[in-house]
Amino acid sequence: MAREIRDITIIGAGPAGLFAQFYAGMRGATAQIVDALSEPGGQLTALYPEKYIFDVGGFPKILAKDLVRSLVEQAAQFGQPVHCNQRVIALEEADGIFTLVTETDRFPTRAIVVAAGIGAFAPRRLPQPVAEQWYGRGIHDRVSDPAAFAGQHVVIIGGGDSAFDWAHQLRGRAASVALIHRSDRYRAHAATVAEVHAAAAAGETLLHPFHELHDVIAEDGRIVALDLKDIKAKSTRRIRADVVLPMLGFVSDIGALADWGLQVENDEIVVNSQMETGRAGVYAAGDINTYPGKLKLIATGFGEAATAVNQAVHHIYPEKKVNPGHSSNLAIFGQKDD
Ligand SMILES: Cc1cc2nc3c(=O)[nH]c(=O)nc-3n(C[C@H](O)[C@H](O)[C@H](O)COP(=O)(O)OP(=O)(O)OC[C@H]3O[C@@H](n4cnc5c(N)ncnc54)[C@H](O)[C@@H]3O)c2cc1C
Repeated sequence: MAREIRDITIIGAGPAGLFAQFYAGMRGATAQIVDALSEPGGQLTALYPEKYIFDVGGFPKILAKDLVRSLVEQAAQFGQPVHCNQRVIALEEADGIFTLVTETDRFPTRAIVVAAGIGAFAPRRLPQPVAEQWYGRGIHDRVSDPAAFAGQHVVIIGGGDSAFDWAHQLRGRAASVALIHRSDRYRAHAATVAEVHAAAAAGETLLHPFHELHDVIAEDGRIVALDLKDIKAKSTRRIRADVVLPMLGFVSDIGALADWGLQVENDEIVVNSQMETGRAGVYAAGDINTYPGKLKLIATGFGEAATAVNQAVHHIYPEKKVNPGHSSNLAIFGQKDD
């Protein structure tokens, strides 16, 4: 699909990328984000949506998912797109225009802000080889439509926030919900763990600590049950299953970014104080970059995103100042532009 050339394309919809998107709009630049995940928020959405953050300016405490919601709202006020499910796998450059290439699309752009955090996330897959052939045919590591599981026997594997959130949310919709975990120590939010324990005590959810997948039982090409192994007693038991949801966290990989002629050290892109990478028109902000004194924090990423975008705007339009002035004076917000 031929897309419009945007001024700035941001790789990554984590906090640094979302703030960069806002900032680009504020500077009057056209922008877009491409992210490998199915929803914005980066590590906050993928790893700790239910945790409080205490060290972001202006919020004595805020849930990670609420900070993401505010960042998305702030970025969205200029109507610039966020393209999810788009993992950047290559960078091309011709006639002064970059093109970021994903598996399904191409995004032409005049400048790039790499805000790729710790790299592109992919759901961690079940280690048992027997599971592999059932991915997409009964085993799903992403839930896009919970209504699809109505009346089904659902087995969730994992002990973190996603596993517990889905155990909680599917109870009452699915015919049954079972939660399998290798231990009885759970990483999920304490309140959700307590809710699922209460549901288990009431017989509404099946909780199987110290168990792991042993075998997939199928009839007529569809999953009908799982054999679970009790890793303490070494025994096996069979439970009904139509759908299996492995919620085992994510693995990340900076992948193609390492091959773009940037200076990469320990999976981090070296930048100077202007967030320049050494390749003209390519900037980096947030956890992906490094420089002397670097702090990997959300607050730091915001500042770096602003610096990167202001430099990118000046690079594309040299007549525009690097320094934007104060937002409280900007005409774009309906204020007097002085
Ligand atoms: C458990 C935990 C708790 C934390 N608590 C705090 C805290 O209290 N305070 C604090 O300041 N920080 C905290 N952090 C750190 C904070 O989450 C990070 O500093 C922050 O997320 C970095 O933001 P980012 O936008 O740079 O990158 P990320 O949040 O990592 O986002 C990067 C995005 O880029 C995308 N991406 C990467 N590669 C590609 C590619 N090739 N193509 C397309 N998309 C790609 C990824 O999918 C991801 O969505 C915590 C981290 C963890 C793990």
